[in-house]
Amino acid sequence: MGKRKCVFCARNFSSSSKRAKEHIYPSWLLSELDIKGTSIYTTHFRPFDKAQRAFFKPKRGDLRIKQISQRKHVFAGLVYGLVCEKCNNGFLNDIEKEAKPILLKMIKDRRVVLREEEQKVISKWGFKTAIILNISSNFEGYFSEETFHNFYITKQPEKNMLISIAKLSKDAKKGDYWIQARNFIFEFPELSDFYINTITDKFTGISKGLEIVPKQAKIAQDMGNNSFSIVLNIGGILIKVFYIFVGGYPVNLYEHKPGESKIWPLDNSVDINWPLEDCFKNLIDFQTNIRVRVLSN
Ligand SMILES: [Zn+2]
Repeated sequence: MGKRKCVFCARNFSSSSKRAKEHIYPSWLLSELDIKGTSIYTTHFRPFDKAQRAFFKPKRGDLRIKQISQRKHVFAGLVYGLVCEKCNNGFLNDIEKEAKPILLKMIKDRRVVLREEEQKVISKWGFKTAIILNISSNFEGYFSEETFHNFYITKQPEKNMLISIAKLSKDAKKGDYWIQARNFIFEFPELSDFYINTITDKFTGISKGLEIVPKQAKIAQDMGNNSFSIVLNIGGILIKVFYIFVGGYPVNLYEHKPGESKIWPLDNSVDINWPLEDCFKNLIDFQTNIRVRVLSN
């Protein structure tokens, strides 16, 4: 049982193509943050009360979720085993070497101008970390085999991915390292004050919501179930790797509030002055900062 090949280069494991153990959070970072021996709990949540709560106007912090499963790890033990030594010591290591000096400056709050080149390096590193985190989690997989292989070929995040960065407030609670979720806030202009949050993964058995606005509920369900986001906390640098499924729906705009800077895709990239002035108080605020506006035609 189990796959016998590297997720990136797709070479079968053999005596000449050995398995490596890729650290999900690289060793240099664990040393820098002094969290090698720190225990972490990875928890899988699901929405509460799916029959009634699929459709509601969310309040900040009200995520209506319940715990499904939890695993305990020590940070240094968070590794992924389906990577070969060539990839691990080769292109994955090159990505670390490129990103490390930039990320270290940012973690230490040094002033640094993130130009297109730096944004590209952080995007690549954030994407790599997010896909390895996701595939090694006790959680649903967001990425296909092709995503891993394409990354190996192009050494770049896919064009339809969105990546942004933000800064975590100094007095934020310690110990939140990442979030993986499908919750987005959808805004339908024709519904005036209605926001639909598809934190639901199934959307089964909606009662009231569907009767009021079936069309929008269906759109939110479909878009939400096919979209995802992963937020990483790297010593106070927040990196969000996300994908919004557009499908055949009317014009969809993605918007965010201040404090969040897009770094991928690179088109029209603007220089970013780090440290950013606005901070987020926690990871969830940054994760739900995305608003998807669905315009009717
Ligand atoms: Zn490989």
